[in-house]
Amino acid sequence: MTDVFDFREGSSPLLVSIPHDGRTLLPGQAECMTDAGRALPDTDWHVRELYSFVEDLGASVIAANYSRYVIDLNRPPSDASLYENQLATGLCPRQTFAGQDIYLDGESVSSREQETRVQAYWQPYHDRIFETLNQLKDQFGYALLWDAHSIAGEVPLLFDGVLPDLNIGTNGGASCATEITAAVAAAAQASPYSSVTNGRFRGGHITRSYGAPEDGVHAMQLELTQQNYMDQKNLSYDAERAVGLVDTIKSMLHAFETSATRGT
Ligand SMILES: [Zn+2]
Repeated sequence: MTDVFDFREGSSPLLVSIPHDGRTLLPGQAECMTDAGRALPDTDWHVRELYSFVEDLGASVIAANYSRYVIDLNRPPSDASLYENQLATGLCPRQTFAGQDIYLDGESVSSREQETRVQAYWQPYHDRIFETLNQLKDQFGYALLWDAHSIAGEVPLLFDGVLPDLNIGTNGGASCATEITAAVAAAAQASPYSSVTNGRFRGGHITRSYGAPEDGVHAMQLELTQQNYMDQKNLSYDAERAVGLVDTIKSMLHAFETSATRGT
């Protein structure tokens, strides 16, 4: 069986989480899916590759191996909606962001199957985040969690218009100290890319559940638009296009780490 996630232990207070770049499906799952579903269009394509530099920074990294169509790790196990008045795609999504059916007629994921997936795939990922943040806090006195995502710049069913390039989310300020968020936002504003803090994407379940600034854990989500590092037609990574974005993420992470050192 494919491991639920890959984990690399680092040497700094930073943990980078990559929950949506997994592509593996469960045995027999693909056979129940439509062509649209099997193409896994809502994958956070190549986010692992984009962030491969963080190992040189000494960060710990956790990256899911299973597709979000098995279980969405950035949603609560209760499957409550993350955003009011927005289309919710669910813990075990039935439709793509484009509104296409993921499963063939007559196929679905039962609530019992969903519960099994929570235990087998969702829980181990979250247990490792929890344990790692606790270890980092013991070692450094504080811990930093960066939840790394990407999405197409235009998804009409999820948001109006075109998304800014860099979408920083701290659950409206609740998951990260104000001065740390400000330092990261300033690094984003100094880059050639457009940016927003706590706009359409304010941080999903991972950011919201682990960020506890009063307890020394600062969590932030970065939702990137995909046109800045990949070819969206053939879904390939474009290393040349990614250079500027990688530089920008580096300076945002640098701001995240140095402002936390000063502030805690
Ligand atoms: Zn994502």
